Amino acid sequence: MEIIIGENAGFCFGVKRAVDTAYDIIEKSKEKIYSIGPLIHNELVTSDLRNKGLIEINSYEDIITLKNKKVIIRTHGIEKEIYDILKSNNNEIIDLTCPFVSKIHSLVKEHSEKGYKIIVIGDKDHPEVKGIVSYAKSDIFVIINEDDIKELKINKDDKVFVIFQTTTNSKNAQKLVDILRELFYNIKLVNTICNATQNRQDEVKVLADACDVMLVIGSSNSSNTKKLYEIAKIYCKDTYFLASAEDAKALKIDKNCKVGVSAGASTPKYLIEEILKNVRNEF
Ligand code: SF4
Repeated sequence: MEIIIGENAGFCFGVKRAVDTAYDIIEKSKEKIYSIGPLIHNELVTSDLRNKGLIEINSYEDIITLKNKKVIIRTHGIEKEIYDILKSNNNEIIDLTCPFVSKIHSLVKEHSEKGYKIIVIGDKDHPEVKGIVSYAKSDIFVIINEDDIKELKINKDDKVFVIFQTTTNSKNAQKLVDILRELFYNIKLVNTICNATQNRQDEVKVLADACDVMLVIGSSNSSNTKKLYEIAKIYCKDTYFLASAEDAKALKIDKNCKVGVSAGASTPKYLIEEILKNVRNEF
């Protein structure tokens, strides 16, 4: 069996920076360390961090009562209101928001102050997008498909600023941008899809096209892994989404197959290795 692992599979720059820093702080600090929500979208990593002492705060009630603590901000950022509450409660903030996400916050703030109506192409329920939306001081809309465009309350000659969730599907985003350009005269656009995401999406396409079987590894709550799976499935009908080594045990792959491997930005290397060990041993 030939196995080809994508060069971009696994931790991206932002996730690696956050995970390495979090482990380092937990190890060195004598006080309790908190994080607002899970640090990244991978349950294996976040449960290991919890076991090592990181305390996840998930409810608004817990956040507003947190005072004078060390608090880590996750890679995809938090809502501005939450950030401001943490600050005013005298917490020490260790901001591990990926710089690419922070840049979107600044762009949204700047353009909404200049009177633009903002359109974010992405998933309105994703924490990154909720964070982005919170930085707007003017009208902001989140769209993911053509139906959402029909709901936009924007006039033809309004100033419109378009940005993207860092992990959104570039092909879908391009399609929506083409429609928006026909609807509005005054569009400014900054492509904020992260390079790591773009490279991974380009790579998975090529790999899936060249392989008989594709394995896409990552958590089911990781939006970028789900997008990799959707793309791979278009080019390779035998594409499998694997969240754990256990999932790999059920696979039946012919030993003559060429197998491609991709993994989301929050998938640790050890999970990829563990799964491949299972795939190799099994067949
Ligand atoms: S995928 Fe890109 S934007 Fe998201 S954490 Fe990684 S490097 Fe940052």
